[in-house]
Amino acid sequence: MTQTFKNSLTPSPLMPVLFVGHGNPMNAIEQNEFTQTWQILGESIPRPQAILCISAHWETRGTSLTAMPFPKTIHDFGGFPEQLYQVNYPAPGNPELANSLKKQINSTEIKLDTTDWGFDHGAWSVIKHIYPKADIPMIQMSIDHYQSPEYHYQLAKELLYLRSRGVLIVGSGNIVHNLRELNWRDENAKHAWAIEAQEKVNQAILDGNHQLLIDYKKQASAFQMAIPTPEHFIPLLYALGVQTKTDRVSLFNDKIFMGSLSMTGVLIAEK
Ligand code: ZN
Repeated sequence: MTQTFKNSLTPSPLMPVLFVGHGNPMNAIEQNEFTQTWQILGESIPRPQAILCISAHWETRGTSLTAMPFPKTIHDFGGFPEQLYQVNYPAPGNPELANSLKKQINSTEIKLDTTDWGFDHGAWSVIKHIYPKADIPMIQMSIDHYQSPEYHYQLAKELLYLRSRGVLIVGSGNIVHNLRELNWRDENAKHAWAIEAQEKVNQAILDGNHQLLIDYKKQASAFQMAIPTPEHFIPLLYALGVQTKTDRVSLFNDKIFMGSLSMTGVLIAEK
């Protein structure tokens, strides 16, 4: 297997950064308005040499990177149709990238995982639409469950150099994500608090007011309903943490689904 990532690449334009709202795992095998946007994104942004995905679905103590050459496709959900369990996303890993990233990060000791993880559905349910040929090497970075939002935002800053090495950084979660409040009878339902949180978070993203988002636990009660647990929100902080002053920020799939789940994605790209 030829590794296309080279640590000694000459400086190149900064790769864009994505945050994607992944939503229902069924998006992996459906064609809908959300998956169509992901396909268009894959066709319109510069082709990366590798992908680093921070998924809501890989939480650990400490921070780990997948470092196996051929990560397995993990079906980390229950109660879905058999067809979803048959999905395989056979993109290669990139142990060289994982090793070099481990050396670059100073704020914490990164663990290299060569046996346990692989690609979870937060990664493959979306990336298979962006890069359906599975021909771009991908690694995942876990979320340290025991650290603060500020910690994750600062750790992201150590990933910024990857953007000039042809690496696409993708955070995968959901901004509004309260599964207890899902409305199973109406896909188009929208709780008032979900709309309020969506609007305030969107404004902060577009204004570059990252501190408000880092401090999401101190915000109005709508935030507490929208973000009852941190794991689906933290990937957004990783995407924002690698934003630079020359980036333009735009939103896509900005829609609330089943009352309490937003599909909002963020594209951060140089002007
Ligand atoms: Zn999820």
